[in-house]
Amino acid sequence: MLHKSLEKTQVCLVGRSSERQKRYRRKKHLEKYGHLENMTGKHKNHTRGSAHPRWNNDRIISSHGYVLIRVEKNHPHAFGNGYAYEHLLVWIAAGNPPFATSNILHHINNDKTDNRIENLELMTNSEHRRFHALLQPRNSKGFSSAID
Ligand SMILES: [Zn+2]
Repeated sequence: MLHKSLEKTQVCLVGRSSERQKRYRRKKHLEKYGHLENMTGKHKNHTRGSAHPRWNNDRIISSHGYVLIRVEKNHPHAFGNGYAYEHLLVWIAAGNPPFATSNILHHINNDKTDNRIENLELMTNSEHRRFHALLQPRNSKGFSSAID
């Protein structure tokens, strides 16, 4: 058996070098552990997966400051990139119908990342603009329908 496989590897450079690598790994293993027992899954001092810092791609902030949640690609409220507005998902999950584009969900405490249902209030765009203009009259021209 061994003889046969060695014969084969003589004509296969890849197989030959991998045989050499195996021998090298066995030698290193022997130096490290003093035996040839398979250590797969037995390494205790490796960093565990959960200990690695991980960027959370499931919840991101849009350029307008809204929270976007990753949803299924064919989700009715997903954008082309597979994300949907969290405030919209919360609104619909609470049993409210989706609203027309002439309406907007206002964040009562002005924190666009606070998407608790009690922080959301449906307004028309014009109501919303008026509301923000009243809140901050000096800043009113800075607001558009795209803002919270
Ligand atoms: Zn608002």
